[in-house]
Amino acid sequence: MGVAALEQWAVDHGQAAFRGRQLHDWLYAKGARRLADVSVLPKAFREQLEAAAPPSGSADWIGRSREMHRSVARDGTTKLLLGTHDGLSIETVGIPAEGRLTVCVSSQVGCPMACRFCATGKGGLQRSLAVHEIVDQVLSVREAMEQRPSHVVFMGMGEPLLNSEAVLAAIDCLCTDLGMAQRQITVSTVGVARTLQQLAELALARLGRAQFTLAVSLHAPDQRLRELLIPTAHAYPIAELLEDCRRFVAITGRRVSFEYILLGGLNDQPRHAEALAQLLRGFQSHVNLIPYNPIAEEEFQRPTPAAVEGFRRALQARHVAVSVRASRGLDADAACGQLRRRLEGSLEPAPAGRA
Ligand code: SF4
Repeated sequence: MGVAALEQWAVDHGQAAFRGRQLHDWLYAKGARRLADVSVLPKAFREQLEAAAPPSGSADWIGRSREMHRSVARDGTTKLLLGTHDGLSIETVGIPAEGRLTVCVSSQVGCPMACRFCATGKGGLQRSLAVHEIVDQVLSVREAMEQRPSHVVFMGMGEPLLNSEAVLAAIDCLCTDLGMAQRQITVSTVGVARTLQQLAELALARLGRAQFTLAVSLHAPDQRLRELLIPTAHAYPIAELLEDCRRFVAITGRRVSFEYILLGGLNDQPRHAEALAQLLRGFQSHVNLIPYNPIAEEEFQRPTPAAVEGFRRALQARHVAVSVRASRGLDADAACGQLRRRLEGSLEPAPAGRA
């Protein structure tokens, strides 16, 4: 809820509107987890609300998750396993860097897209996340790392374009209620047919303008190889995906970036770079190369540093803007879904605020 909705909520509960503004401050600026934390509200009012809270407790009433596990890598990358009110778990990751903190958030519990290199895809979809469950991840990382997040990337568990309404409402909340800049937010998709134009139009309607970055996971320069890595891609030919990207650019005025996971020996050869450059010809774009993080269930190999560098140079030589994403938190189950799969079913919620 934003300020206006909380003011109305306070009035509906027999309080003055300013109580809603106070609650807004405690929820977003102070990160309250339970009603008891919101000491600025009159005690009698809090007791009345406590009495009406769900049996599972006032954390659910406020809409906060429970921290089930925390894993911190040597470079400070912090992965949280968060428990939802219905007993499911999701991953969120805080990635610190010089002068910035990026939160990699999940948009669904599990994922139906079944990408072969991804641990999350192995378990299928359980459900989509609600707006507050997405915003909670940013608040949880802020609390765990004691630092204000500067960037948010929708690159955790799930396919954001299968949950566009909630993702856009969460972006709205992050910008309006947490003061983040839309330009510091990235929505990453592996591609779902007939959803990109809808996302662009919804973003304009909901946010007034679409300034977040759209990152499209290509991972292969041709349809055959792409389908091998992303089985669901058979329903969405690569040419159609690129056409939809062009439409997104035309509607929003934002350029698209392309993600390309480099798998040793499979899609990291110079001929793949050449084909990728050819595919993106005339497209104002940026390619982000991601050296693969091995997961236990698949045979894929991490590319050699020489292959990564060769691929980067080959793209650059063909005038494609390119960067290589530095591997972060390799000692903290860094690949999407790894921590959750390793710990599934073995954890009880940690006491609130536990390090
Ligand atoms: S890579 Fe992303 S879209 Fe693919 S299965 Fe994993 S979470 Fe889903």
